[in-house]
Amino acid sequence: MTDAYETIRYETPATGVARITLARPEMRNAQNETLLYELDAAFDAAAHDPAVKVIILAGDDPHFSSGHDLSGARDMTRFTPVTSWGGAAAEEPGVAGRQAREEEIYLGFCRRWRDLPKPTIAQVQGKAIAGGLMLVAVCDLVVASEDAQFSDPSVAFGVNGVEWFSHPWDFGIRKAKEMLFTGAAFSAAEAERMGFVNKVVARDALEAETLALAERIAQRPAFGLRLAKQAMNQAQDAQGFQTVQAAAMSLHQMGHAHNQIVHGMLVDPKGAEIIRREAKAK
Ligand code: ZN
Repeated sequence: MTDAYETIRYETPATGVARITLARPEMRNAQNETLLYELDAAFDAAAHDPAVKVIILAGDDPHFSSGHDLSGARDMTRFTPVTSWGGAAAEEPGVAGRQAREEEIYLGFCRRWRDLPKPTIAQVQGKAIAGGLMLVAVCDLVVASEDAQFSDPSVAFGVNGVEWFSHPWDFGIRKAKEMLFTGAAFSAAEAERMGFVNKVVARDALEAETLALAERIAQRPAFGLRLAKQAMNQAQDAQGFQTVQAAAMSLHQMGHAHNQIVHGMLVDPKGAEIIRREAKAK
């Protein structure tokens, strides 16, 4: 199974535990279309395997994930759509094709991963930026090493935030606004205080500590775990989680559409300059 993927690895490091590892370290595990479809297939494989009770999502060193890969070629025709959004493969012009693509590979996939009926644990070191933060956010639990940093600087590109908009629940309204308005990164310790991270550990203990947590969870019956996860996600949905996701995605598409009209591209080109300048000033 390991050999079936180009951009990730799939392993079963302990009884009841599957580990999916983002394996594009030369690109800081940036997400191209292939990686997102492979990740979706691997999550499905883990969900469907009765021997797997818990799933770890990790990333090869040095950084968990730098976000979407904006450099790669876009060609949705290579993939069979997984969610019900049509028009992405055909690359319909204008907003239609773009919205279909982002509803499929970002919001649609994230919804599937967030709701898959087994506990998931993000194992995070280094940076998790924007789309990288998105992959952490869809997991149920987060174990971070002391050097981990979480940020969503995408407002600099003229959108509301990354496509998976769980920020209000992840960081609380006020800190989420700080993250979005300033593009600032929260450290592992800060993120733990906000309740986004469950546990902070030394860098060299990250893999072992995450696996130990997964093995502890795997002692419990799969059905109990599934019911507990479902009950918690239903509680979050009752707070308006899904409605907020849908509304935020609409605003996100409006941001892209505005940028396309004004700048001739999906994002405000000044964004990269702002982010680079602030990174240098640190
Ligand atoms: Zn987008």
